[in-house]
Amino acid sequence: MRFTRLRLNGFKSFVDPTDLVIADGLTGVVGPNGCGKSNLLEALRWVMGENRPTAMRGGGMEDVIFAGAATRGARNFAEVSLHIDNTERLAPSGFNEADELDIVRRITRDAGSAYKAAGRDVRARDVQMLFADASTGSHSPALVRQGQISELINARPKARRRILEEAAGISGLYQRRHEAELKLSGAEQNLSRVDDVIEQLA
Ligand code: ATP
Repeated sequence: MRFTRLRLNGFKSFVDPTDLVIADGLTGVVGPNGCGKSNLLEALRWVMGENRPTAMRGGGMEDVIFAGAATRGARNFAEVSLHIDNTERLAPSGFNEADELDIVRRITRDAGSAYKAAGRDVRARDVQMLFADASTGSHSPALVRQGQISELINARPKARRRILEEAAGISGLYQRRHEAELKLSGAEQNLSRVDDVIEQLA
């Protein structure tokens, strides 16, 4: 799976549709302070399912929508799409049918986020798992934000272990285990309720 294009529309300072083409080799983004370089990295995290507004430097998720400027009114939605080259068929199963894969996330004021993968409506979890299974995602250690290196140096062993697990591509398995444990405990509670009913009837 190779990311080849990030398209932003109404996301933070990118009010007009803007394409960041990620060609073979090294892509550099340069520009003066405040021109939106970090916003690009945040758009990438966001389309991969980031759900913490603080990771977007905002108080609420709708803060990613273009908020207006002296000459432009605020927008009502923001959309980011990630174009993936899947010719090597490395996308996780369920999304691995075609040479190209598009992931789209759109947020509309007062209506929250909606996701599409390969043209189908999907849940946030599906997108998060898709990238976790491909050893990447919004928490990927490959995405390094400002100040993160010093945080890593000062991190506790448990937090450092989580970073290594993500790099090893097993965080998706942990998420599935957690969900299985929740289901199991739900089933156990239901069983004990059935036992109570049987006791009352006996
Ligand atoms: P630096 O080099 O200082 O780190 P940068 O190039 O990484 O800067 P960003 O931090 O990505 O810049 O962009 C900050 C700009 O994005 C600011 O001008 C801010 O006003 C603008 N911005 C952030 N959120 C929104 C929003 N919701 N609507 C409009 N503009 C926004």
